[in-house]
Amino acid sequence: METDLFIGGKWIPSSTGDRFDVRDPATGSVIASVADGSVQDALAAVAAASDAAASWAATPARVRGEHLRRAFELMTARASTFARLISQENGKAPADAHSEVLYAAEFFRWYAEEAVRALGSVATAPSGANRILVVRQPVGVCVLVTPWNFPAAMATRKIAPALAAGCTVVLKPASDTPLTALAMAELLAEAGIPDGVVNVLPSRSSGRVVSAMLHDPRVRKVSFTGSTEVGRLLLAEAADNVVNTSMELGGNAPFLVLADADLAAAVDGAMIAKMRNGGEACTAANRFYVHRSVAGEFTEQLTARMAALRLGPGTDADTQVGPLVNEDIAAKVDGLVRDALAAGATATTGGTRPDGPGYYYPPTVLTDVAPTAAILREEIFGPVAPIVTFDTDEEAVAYANDTEYGLVAYVYTRDLTRGLRISEALEAGMIGLNRGVVSDPAAPFGGVKQSGIGREGGHEGLLDYTESKYIAVTW
Ligand code: NAP
Repeated sequence: METDLFIGGKWIPSSTGDRFDVRDPATGSVIASVADGSVQDALAAVAAASDAAASWAATPARVRGEHLRRAFELMTARASTFARLISQENGKAPADAHSEVLYAAEFFRWYAEEAVRALGSVATAPSGANRILVVRQPVGVCVLVTPWNFPAAMATRKIAPALAAGCTVVLKPASDTPLTALAMAELLAEAGIPDGVVNVLPSRSSGRVVSAMLHDPRVRKVSFTGSTEVGRLLLAEAADNVVNTSMELGGNAPFLVLADADLAAAVDGAMIAKMRNGGEACTAANRFYVHRSVAGEFTEQLTARMAALRLGPGTDADTQVGPLVNEDIAAKVDGLVRDALAAGATATTGGTRPDGPGYYYPPTVLTDVAPTAAILREEIFGPVAPIVTFDTDEEAVAYANDTEYGLVAYVYTRDLTRGLRISEALEAGMIGLNRGVVSDPAAPFGGVKQSGIGREGGHEGLLDYTESKYIAVTW
């Protein structure tokens, strides 16, 4: 497969000749070496995107949509190949990798359909003197920065709406997982996307290359998915040229189980909300608040399900939980669990990191977690479920909202009115009400508070790559 930079429709080595290694998280061994994009390469990619911008924006929306539709078909047809590549570089279990590919491909299909719906409006001014005509135009050249946890889906969630809206892009994938992004560049070229419309720039100097691009006046938007910490830096960088920003940042999702919940459904939902992607998801349930009257039974059932999961390399067909992506993440998860145990928590399963090789952490359930424990405040990003009990709905909502994050929250109750009332009170951009998964290309995904700005997916995701232009007209 191609491992160079993809700029202006060509595969080229880094201007410095540097390359970096991609490792298999199951063993730590090197699986590929990839060109390491420099600042000079980043600016060449911006130039290519800028050169392609006018003609792509002028391409009929129907034609842009048909290219995206072709990308959907190609990706679906090659789902197994993409899934294997994702498992190799990210470590995730085969079922997780396969469902990521289908989810990723759906963004191409959804935005193939949405491309023709960047609607405007016309109204008569209140004075009656003129008409107010509003048209939607592409923002222009976009820099897309993606994380390693969904190497395919986080890229398509940005590329598809950007292209549908008529923008051109430079994608900077995470250094842990650049191979999926490079395979996607090949696929998009095959789908007929013209040279320069999509450029892919792996780089280990992410801070320097992204900063250089954000200071290039040809760049009009940055869409970032990753940690809140890096998001804050990019918001500051974007301020210099007043670059449009979309930020999909970290989460600390609460999972509420009320006394009247269908417990079997709540445990099923908990397994998805916690274990989709081995816990390495911004939407992962990070804290379980369970009503005291059902906490014992919920804990018992969740413990049994977590303990039964098979840990192994993502490339083995029967693996249910793969290794974490790298040593830093594995050490962080281990540290958070140790800290909670030292403060009085009990592990009903898991809780001890196995010896290497590989960055494995076992599915773990913790009870009696101290309310002040770091594990309830920080994003765990691993297969650990801390459980805290509560007595009243008000207490549960107060616990849930006691965080600077606000991406997603989950609620289980048989009483729909109560569930909707609590959903409205929760400070989150998305709520799973009797559901353990909310991600859907047709829905607006995003957070409030320090979980982000803007929405991806749905019709809103398309509008985020457009500017409205108001034309005051007399006729
Ligand atoms: P990260 O460290 O913030 O990295 C994300 C991306 O930013 C990577 O491509 C990274 O490149 C790049 N980057 C790092 N430092 C940078 C800098 N100073 N300037 C510009 N770019 C920089 O996050 P991660 O560890 O990959 O991903 C996990 C985080 O993503 C979690 O917090 C998770 O919640 C969040 N996430 C959020 C969503 C959402 O939709 N809200 C979805 C998925 C993940 P390198 O890899 O080269 O460092």
